[in-house]
Amino acid sequence: MQQAPTIRKSLLRWFREEARDLPWRKSCDPYHVWLSEILLQQTRVDQGLPYYERFLVALPTLPDLAAASEDDVLKLWEGLGYYTRARNLHRAARQVMDQYDGRLPEKAELLQMLPGVGRYTAGAIASIAFGERAPVVDGNVKRVLTRLFNIAQPIEDTATDKKLWAIADSLVPASDPGDFNQGMMELGARICTPKKPDCGSCPIVGDCASHKRNLQEKRPVRKPRKAVPHREIVVAVIARDGEYLIGKRGPDGMLAGLWEFPGGKLESGETHQEALVRECAEELSITVKVGGMISTVKHAYTHLKVTLNVYRCTIISGKERPNVHTELKWIKPTEFDDYAFPKGNHKFLDLLRPDLEFGL
Ligand code: SF4
Repeated sequence: MQQAPTIRKSLLRWFREEARDLPWRKSCDPYHVWLSEILLQQTRVDQGLPYYERFLVALPTLPDLAAASEDDVLKLWEGLGYYTRARNLHRAARQVMDQYDGRLPEKAELLQMLPGVGRYTAGAIASIAFGERAPVVDGNVKRVLTRLFNIAQPIEDTATDKKLWAIADSLVPASDPGDFNQGMMELGARICTPKKPDCGSCPIVGDCASHKRNLQEKRPVRKPRKAVPHREIVVAVIARDGEYLIGKRGPDGMLAGLWEFPGGKLESGETHQEALVRECAEELSITVKVGGMISTVKHAYTHLKVTLNVYRCTIISGKERPNVHTELKWIKPTEFDDYAFPKGNHKFLDLLRPDLEFGL
């Protein structure tokens, strides 16, 4: 590619002068780089930083992570969302202990075989921590490249994705590939932002095809978004002798491995009360009496919006059994902090503490 040498030179110079002072950049320790890359997927740097620091205090090395329990790892991740990332990180650490004697493999193609490590993460670790000439294409890089090369095909198309990876591969230099890749990502995060890119401060403005045509705000081209579906959920807060019943979600699917209050989706034509009685029978093999409503909580995931309708319930017959959860526990409100709950549950947990009106 004709412009590649000038793009590389300008971007590398800019990155070395302007790079944010982030903790994983100081050490280039493969475990730190890997953790930062997983943490920062779907998460802003300012939001992910405290988690990164807390995580490394609790689990300073890869063997520490491998030796931790899944509950401990999820607790450290609590509130960040996308919990599959945490479970895969944990599984991958155990795999690295078994297969590679506790040292992350250096090649992107081997890294990509670990759970939760896709082409992007493998390229980032291999180039930043081990200096391999491997490309990276994340959301920020996609935006920069579609603008830089004025790509008008929808960014969601597989053909566009292939094209962007090919361009990234042709741009990444053999020397300092990690700095180049981080420079592209940093440029997307700070200068070539989704709205109003700061082209006046951009180190590669001279090579930017969409800027030349004043099309930068029209790139990338996106397909129209589908409406996000909404679900009404009922939640049973079942109390007994000062304790509440919680269940651990199974190992697969959304929010896997987290603890929650029982409940589920409202079926069409059902009242909240009917849904709670049905859910408790299906999930726990118990019959409950539904009391007053404690709270209504709205929560949005990327692909789904939910309204949690939270009710006090008491068991009137049956002995609870974990029909859908992997485990059930009765816990005191003082123990809430020992378990990792989804964000939606956190929005009403405080209302269940005993000093408040809705407590036991
Ligand atoms: S000139 Fe503007 S649109 Fe082009 S890469 Fe730089 S910031 Fe992005």
